[in-house]
Amino acid sequence: MFVDIQHLSYQYNRATELAIKDFSLQMNKGEIVSILGVSGSGKSTILRLIAGLEVPKTGSITLDGKKVLDEKQFVQPEKRGVGMVFQDYALFPHMTVEANIKFGLKKRSKKAKQERVEEMLSLVNLSNLKKRYPYELSGGQQQRVALARALAPAPALLLFDEPFSNLDTYLQIKIREELREILKKTNTTSIFVTHDQEDAKALADQIIYIEGGKVILKGKPEEVFPYQ
Ligand code: ADP
Ligand code: ADP
Repeated sequence: MFVDIQHLSYQYNRATELAIKDFSLQMNKGEIVSILGVSGSGKSTILRLIAGLEVPKTGSITLDGKKVLDEKQFVQPEKRGVGMVFQDYALFPHMTVEANIKFGLKKRSKKAKQERVEEMLSLVNLSNLKKRYPYELSGGQQQRVALARALAPAPALLLFDEPFSNLDTYLQIKIREELREILKKTNTTSIFVTHDQEDAKALADQIIYIEGGKVILKGKPEEVFPYQ
């Protein structure tokens, strides 16, 4: 398995209950999984555990053949090969589109970096806007810059935390289609958390429905939502 997550559990300081209870997930390379659940069900916590921003109470994680977490080891976030796209895009406001995308590219020659940036710009269809600053872009365009920045270092796993919640409905539908296309084209293994059933259905190969930190349902979109 390209991604193998086993028995993650997590408890916040001073909380009386586990926020995450025995979460496991296996993914093939290039697969897109949606974690679906209402607010407070534990979606962001799962992403934070996978990214290495929290230390779980139990569990193990293997990414692309590399153990990044078990009882004995904890690989730091920046060494996991995990990328993240946030709700608010988190673009650097003082950097152009081009500089934002280049930012995460380390250990490459100047030429190789520029080539990669151009490739990403063309992938998200923003080549003509590369000299602009984030505030000079529409919400949809900022979203695409955030995606290009996250994809540029070719992460083993890309995590999305409700990336559409700031977009209007029309744009949300358009962008989730674009997003699926880009993730498939680049064969990027990704986990996408959302409270929106339509997002999950449109994007995912596999849906995991969680409630109170526990997996309730798991399957292909047509298995999880058979009557629609
Ligand atoms: P979601 O992303 O699905 O909205 P979260 O992962 O943010 O859910 O939260 C899961 C649970 O953990 C909720 O009950 C929430 O109140 C709790 N929680 C989240 N962050 C903290 C924190 N820093 N301290 C204590 N409890 C927290
Ligand atoms: P999208 O569908 O990609 O989100 P919009 O329909 O919101 O794009 O924007 C249409 C055009 O208006 C875009 O080409 C964009 O460059 C331009 N635009 C939107 N917001 C701004 C802004 N704040 N400053 C300059 N140009 C903008």
